Amino acid sequence: MSELVPSSIQAKRKSGVLHIEWNDGEICIYPFDLLRNACPCAQCRGGHENMKPEPDEDVFLIPLMDAKASQMKSLEAVGNYALNIEWEDGHKYGIYNWHFLRTLCQRMVENSP
Ligand SMILES: [Zn+2]
Repeated sequence: MSELVPSSIQAKRKSGVLHIEWNDGEICIYPFDLLRNACPCAQCRGGHENMKPEPDEDVFLIPLMDAKASQMKSLEAVGNYALNIEWEDGHKYGIYNWHFLRTLCQRMVENSP
């Protein structure tokens, strides 16, 4: 595991993005709906055996939702290693650790047109 950790985390509900600045100066801006599609919990991944430390490539192929499911209700730190996101539809099982978020950020760059 790398030692990259966020130095600042801001949920910008108006624009629907999560803004993370990392301790190496990298800035990542995550659309809420992408975070929801990438939700790493067992339920969203289809069982514990499908849980992976990194986001699936296919989260970029899922159409983005415009619904309660992609509106962030609350954001909480889990220890000093992850974020737990609760969504407006009540789903709150995703634990997004730093490695996962950083990898998702890299994939966003790779997948941007
Ligand atoms: Zn989930």
